Order: sequence, then structure tokens, then C-alpha cells
Amino acid sequence: MRIGLGYDVHRLTAGRPLYLGGIRIPHDKGLLGHSDGDVIIHAVIDALLGASGEGDIGRLFPDSDPGLKDVRSVKLLKDVVSRLRKKRLRVDHVDVIVVAESPRLGPYFEAMKEVLAPLLGVPLDRLGLKAKTNEGLGDIGRGRAIACWAVASLRTGSRSYKRD
Ligand code: MG
Repeated sequence: MRIGLGYDVHRLTAGRPLYLGGIRIPHDKGLLGHSDGDVIIHAVIDALLGASGEGDIGRLFPDSDPGLKDVRSVKLLKDVVSRLRKKRLRVDHVDVIVVAESPRLGPYFEAMKEVLAPLLGVPLDRLGLKAKTNEGLGDIGRGRAIACWAVASLRTGSRSYKRD
């Protein structure tokens, strides 16, 4: 079994749509980034790349690449999972903690899972999504940024999970 850890943080800014966990969430600010800024997917990608020994998201998808400007991160995740498959690696389980003062994310987790679990090739119960606030502390606590931690385990083999 292989395990990888991912972390990411993006600033929140007015005038950007908020994409998190592959879905658009109504909010007065969005995440700043060269891509759509989806901090959950970026942390998951780094966990997958760490487990597969393929470096990190910045190396694979550099923010100097104009072709990746405002790219939807779901597209990057698809690319990463297909790279894993070429190495005969499958996602076994992913667990996520997203740290955001607002908006409250719990109501969106089911919709995120419906998007992310099929991309990862896992049943819904092999993708954990959890949210915490930062208790008002620091820039995240003041609503200036959202951070995310992710851990992923991979297994070798080509058999898919059946959807539940
Ligand atoms: Mg990022």
C-alpha cells in the first residue's frame, strides 16, 4: 500500500467564483489562483502524486502555463488519476479536511462526493470530506483564505470498485 499527504491554501478574493470539491458554491468571494483555485482538489492531487512518487501539482501543472489559466481542477484530477492507472495504481481511499471560516461547507459535501468519487474511481464511502473553521484565528479565521489537507492511499492492480 502507498500513502500520500497533500496540503494547499488559496486566498479568497472578491470577483471570483468559488469552486470547491469540483462544484461551484454560492459565495461573495472565490479562490485566487492560476486555475479555478479549487483547494480541495489541489490537496487531493498532491496526496495522490505523493503516494505515486510523481512529484507535486506545481511540477505537473505549472502556473506559468498559459494553457492552464482558469482551468477547472476536475480536469487536472482526471489527468492525475489516468497517470496513476498507467502505473497500475488505483485510488484506495481519500480523506480530506478543509479549513474555512465561511461558507459552511457541510451542506455541499454530498454534491462534492458525487463529482469526486467517480473521478477517483472509488465508492462514496471511500472519500471522506470534513470541514473545520479556524476558530477565528489568523488569515483563514478572518475569511481571507481557505486551506485543505488530504491523505490518500493507493493500491496496485487494475480492478475497479463497483459504484455503491
Ligand atoms: Mg493550489
